[in-house]
Amino acid sequence: MSRKESIKKMREQLIRRRDALHRALEGDLSLLRELHQERTGDILDAAADTVQDELNSQLIEAESRELSAINNAIARHGRGTYGDCEGCGKPIPLSRLRAIPYANDCIDCRRKAESRSAGGAAMMWNRVFDQVEADPV
Ligand SMILES: [Zn+2]
Repeated sequence: MSRKESIKKMREQLIRRRDALHRALEGDLSLLRELHQERTGDILDAAADTVQDELNSQLIEAESRELSAINNAIARHGRGTYGDCEGCGKPIPLSRLRAIPYANDCIDCRRKAESRSAGGAAMMWNRVFDQVEADPV
């Protein structure tokens, strides 16, 4: 399969993934609403709900980020720039696009970006649990 054909196929994958994420996000939001409605006056329950809400909102945030990355990738398809690295302009290897169809940079540029913003998602999760332990009940 040529690079052009592979890239065309990835567009279909991106659209399927986008639709699935849309549904997941709608599901998570309705779950969040249910949690708020079921909340009782019990302080421990309220604390647990707060933790749960926090985790849910982090998940929603991650899914929202992926969704916007996917929308960007679909837009790049439309402009004919999909598969080109936004950092250095070189074609992104197909193996990377197969692993991450919404990748907008090559591994070299990604590594450079990640070393600038050290930590990332892992740091975010640590912060959530730190706060949970630090809060006196
Ligand atoms: Zn690059």
